[in-house]
Formats: sequence, structure tokens, C-alpha cells
Amino acid sequence: MPLDSQSPTGPIETRWDRHRFSLKLVNPSNKRKHKIVVVGTGLAGGSAAASLAELGYNVHCFCFQDSPRRAHSIAAQGGINAAKNYHNDGDSVFRLFYDTVKGGDFRARESNVYRLAELSLNIIDQCVAQGVPFAREYSGYLDNRSFGGAQVSRTFYARGQTGQQLLLGAYQALERQIGAGQVQMFPRTEMLDLIVVDGRARGIVTRNLMTGRIASHLADTVVLATGGYGNVYYLSTNAKGSNATAIWRAHKRGALFANPCFTQIHPTCIPVSGEYQSKLTLMSESLRNDGRVWVPLTKGDTRAPGQIPEAERDYFLERKYPSFGNLVPRDVASRNAKQVCDEGRGVGPSGLAVYLDFRDAIQRLGKAVIEERYGNLFDMYERIAGEDPYNAPMRIYPAIHYTMGGLWVDYNLMSTIPGLYVIGEANFSDHGANRLGASALMQGLADGYFVLPNTINDYLASTKLDPVDATHAVVRDAEAGVAAIAKRLLDVKGTRSVDSYHRELGKLMWENCGMSRNARGLRYALLRIPELREQYWRDVRVLGTGEELNQSLEKAGRVADFLELAELMCLDALERNESCGGHFREEFQTPEGEAQRDDEHYSYTAAWEFRGAGNRPEMHKEPLAFEYVHPSQRSYK
Ligand SMILES: Cc1cc2nc3c(=O)[nH]c(=O)nc-3n(C[C@H](O)[C@H](O)[C@H](O)COP(=O)(O)OP(=O)(O)OC[C@H]3O[C@@H](n4cnc5c(N)ncnc54)[C@H](O)[C@@H]3O)c2cc1C
Repeated sequence: MPLDSQSPTGPIETRWDRHRFSLKLVNPSNKRKHKIVVVGTGLAGGSAAASLAELGYNVHCFCFQDSPRRAHSIAAQGGINAAKNYHNDGDSVFRLFYDTVKGGDFRARESNVYRLAELSLNIIDQCVAQGVPFAREYSGYLDNRSFGGAQVSRTFYARGQTGQQLLLGAYQALERQIGAGQVQMFPRTEMLDLIVVDGRARGIVTRNLMTGRIASHLADTVVLATGGYGNVYYLSTNAKGSNATAIWRAHKRGALFANPCFTQIHPTCIPVSGEYQSKLTLMSESLRNDGRVWVPLTKGDTRAPGQIPEAERDYFLERKYPSFGNLVPRDVASRNAKQVCDEGRGVGPSGLAVYLDFRDAIQRLGKAVIEERYGNLFDMYERIAGEDPYNAPMRIYPAIHYTMGGLWVDYNLMSTIPGLYVIGEANFSDHGANRLGASALMQGLADGYFVLPNTINDYLASTKLDPVDATHAVVRDAEAGVAAIAKRLLDVKGTRSVDSYHRELGKLMWENCGMSRNARGLRYALLRIPELREQYWRDVRVLGTGEELNQSLEKAGRVADFLELAELMCLDALERNESCGGHFREEFQTPEGEAQRDDEHYSYTAAWEFRGAGNRPEMHKEPLAFEYVHPSQRSYK
């Protein structure tokens, strides 16, 4: 299958402008004749649904939560990047572009990344106009802080609640359109299949989570903004409900899945405390602005942190990476934390933690300043860990946080199924093999507020769509398929809970396709996952019925999909014989233990095609060319 990225050529600074001009427009009075389904109300879906409705399209918008404003985006803490250069510290659109291409370890499309950096400016203006309460300096200018992988201050924030405040902005814009009748909102409604007629996406099949009613919703185009799949690992920083079902089922209908093995591990999470834990909590990266990461110099040192003198501490990030210090990118910080713990220098009861210490910052700036910057994060830590981080260092350990893989999209954000657009974390994104902090919010909002509202017109203006109604055989088959999956899950009546399978899958993935991978572990996982999946369909126990609110059934469908996606992730990881960003293959490292890329053989996006249950998926390659940021060994030293 030829993968045409539709990426413009010519000078990179004018690519988006020239491309936009080349796209067809829909006459304002014709827009109301088109219906668009948007699945998801996070920052990507919420901003897209509001913007498309503002343009005059009829939008039907879906989420599985009780309110659009409960989307997982609300959890984002630290901030959003933009190249405003308010600090006059050398930032520019080009520098943000450069940092993002380099941060992604040269596995992203240059044209997309440049557009993202350009649009970062518009995002801040849009959000300020909406009233998003970004932190401000005394002078009244918006304040910034630094995130990993950057030497400039370009992260805009609203205390530790940036996602919540940005989502409230998008939600208000969405509510305005719901009030105006331009958006019809379907909360507590889960998309369970994509309707593809004559090769084009024409709607979705949903289940009403309160009544169990299965229905189809037909449209001229479908937009998926359904978030990431980090919960394949069971324990992650994602909201418990985040899942892969929408994109996975679209994949099975023909949308290629790109770079599934590219997952991001976040270095600063509260460590796992026991077998029965079901969720991990992030401590925002912003804390690395002022917190210093360290472990005891010697193995097995069990003294309380306050008892360990300065000379017996190893500030390992500052020691190894003097230029970036504690602000190295997430993959580098995570791997180094794992390494010192593997050496036996980890702290806390499990030995799987490092310190994040604010002692020096409090001495330098005073407690009040630290409280002003991170107060809510410190409170959250104290509530979960039972220790006061103003007096003792936090204990942190890496955890799964974000997925750079997702459905393959071209420059217009259209998947390989014509008429199916994918935005936000659900697509394979502009981040390459590693997402720098504060760039997911930027991408979600760029996609939803600015890219999609420009590119979707071209498809609608240039495509003749025949009417499709609910009696169409394809629609009926899709509905019947969804009902059959629910019935099959309920009929198993086995002995093990859905969660127990999910936990087992998560452990298998973390150990074999997690922070570091090797061929032996991946081959083992590729044997084990199909066995686990077979056992699941034979022995899972799903209580209740399909005609009621049944969270056990909801989870069962999502875990069934994770059990398939996990296999593709391992296959992708095994095929990529190099280390890049979040994909660290132990066999491929430099003598200093850094990721060793193989640009000659792996400078491509791997896009996988579903070839039917039980068949090996087929990999297609989109070659990546770097005209502006030339691939080099990433160095943060
Ligand atoms: C704890 C935490 C902190 C973070 N902090 C930051 C940060 O500071 N800065 C940053 O840039 N990034 C941050 N991120 C990453 C960022 O929050 C996410 O990548 C981003 O919010 C994803 O937005 P989204 O709109 O793509 O998806 P989500 O916000 O995940 O929204 C998904 C939407 O899709 C809906 N949905 C999903 N499946 C279905 C279905 N089958 N049927 C119907 N509806 C469905 C859901 O109901 C929801 O409305 C953080 C992530 C975590 C976990």
C-alpha cells in the first residue's frame, strides 16, 4: 500500500500556508449540509468539535464519560509549549521545531513538526482570548517555565492544572455550540465500530453505556480523538477509562497503525506500592525545574535521606548531563533512574525509586515560592505517599505515560481510510520516538483548533458521497458484530475477572516491551500474549447483562482489544533493530549506554496493516527525510 503523506515541499516556513491555499473550501452555506461525527471530547476532540461547529458544520460528538469535560486531558498538569519567546532567551519557531525533531530522535515528519511549532503561537492567543487563566508574572505577562529537552523557558502553565484549564476553555466553546444546536452531544456513549461504505468512513456504531442500546450514527466524515493506549500496561498515569478500542477497531477496518511500540515512560511518577494497585500517579515534569534527582552513592544505603551527607549523594543526571542536568528528556531521565536502581542504589521499601529533592530550592527561594509554583502537586504527593515533600525528598520512579504510536495520518490528518481523520494522542503524532513534555497539549489543540478545520473542507468539497442509511447492509453487519462481541463476552461465564487478565497482560508488557526491550523478551511476549488471549476468551467472567449499565462488560471489550494491540506493539518493537527515543533495545546502545539509532535502515515510520485475525499484519514504510534538522547522535551532555 503506497503511503502518501501529502507532505508539502519547498521552504518549510511557507509549507503550511501554501498547502492551506491549495485546499478546496466549502461554501459557507453548504457547510450546514454536512454532518461530521467527532469521537472524543478531550483537548483534541473538544477543540475540533467546537471549531467545526463554529464553521457551520453539523457535528455529532461522543464521549464515554458523563460529561465532555471529564476527558482524560483534564489530568494534564505541567504545561503547554509555545515559541512566544516572552523571556527573550533565544526561543523561536525554528528552535521549537528543532528541539521537537531532535527530542523525537529523528523519527517524526519535519513538515508536521514545523507546522506544530508555528501553530503553538496561535494556540496561546486562542486560549488567552477564551479566558484560560495562565500563570502571569508580576508585570502581567504570561509566565513560562522549562521542561525537559529544552534550554529555553517556553512552557505556559496554570499552576499544576494546565490541562483542566485548557479543557475548560475548549469545553466552553463546545457548550456554546451545543447551546446553539450546532453540536449534538452524546455522553456515556462508546464507539465500538467504524462504518466503512465503499471504502470511505461513513459513521460509527455505538453502545449507550446506560441502557446498552446499540445504534449507528452516519455522517460524511468521522474524526477520532480518542486519546492514547498507555493502559495496555494496566498500571499507567492515564485515566482508568483511557483505552484503545476506537482506534483498534478502526485499524481492523483498514486504518494503518503506525509505530505502535513508541511509548513514553515518564520519569517522575509515584512508585508502585503493591500488587493490588490499579493506577499510578504522575508528579509533573515541571518539578524538575527546581527538584534535584539523586540516589545514595553506595549500594544498599538504607539511611534516611536527611542522614546522607552531600558527599555521599549521587546527583546522577547533573553528573552525566551537565548541560541539561535534571531537565534531560524523559527517556534519558527514565533510563538513568532504572539504571541506578538496577545497580542496587534505588531507595524506598521496594528499592525501585530515586529521590526528587527540593531542599536546595526551598533554601534558595523560600517555601512560599515553591508552594506557589507546585503547591497542589506537593499536597497530592503527601496525600498518596504519606510524606511531606517540603521536609523530605519525594520518591519517584518512571511509569508509562503517553503513546506516540497511533493511527497513521497524512499531513491533512486523514488516515488510510478516506474520510477518517484522527487527531490528538490517537494518531501517530508529530512527536517521533519520544514526546517532549508539554507538547501533547500543543499537538491536540493544534490539530483540533487549527489543522483539521482547514483540511477537512478539502475532502468534503472534493468528494461525492452517496446517501447511506441505517438499512444499508454494511451498517446492519457492523451493528450485529458489536452485539455479537458483547454476547460472546457475557456468555463465557469463566472463572477469572477482566482485571486479573489486564493486570497479567500489563506486567508482561512492562517486563518485555517497557522501558527497555530485547529480542528474547519480545519473542517471549509474542508467544505468551496469544496464549493469554485464548485463555481470556475461554475463561473470563463478565457479570451482569448487556442491557444495563455494566462497567465489567465495558472493560471486557477494551481488554479484549488491548490483548490484540499488545501483540502488534511487541512485533513492531522486535522489527525495529535500533534504539530510538522511548524505544530502547538493549542490544543497540552506545558504549556510554545511550540509545543507538540506525538511520540507514530505520529512518521510517512503520505503518501496520491488519490482515485478518490470526494472520501476520503487514508492515508498510513511510520513509522520513530530514532537510532542516540533520540526524545526529542526540547529546544532552
Ligand atoms: C497525568 C498526566 C499528565 C499530563 N500532563 C501533560 C502536560 O502537562 N502537558 C502536555 O502537553 N501533556 C500532558 N499529558 C499528556 C496529555 O494530557 C494527553 O496526551 C492529551 O490530553 C490527550 O488528549 P486527547 O484529546 O488526544 O485525548 P483524551 O483527553 O484522552 O480524550 C479522549 C476522549 O475520547 C473519548 N473516547 C475514547 N474512546 C472512546 C470511545 N470508544 N467511544 C467514545 N468516546 C471515546 C473519551 O471519552 C474522551 O472524551 C499528561 C498526561 C497524563 C496522563
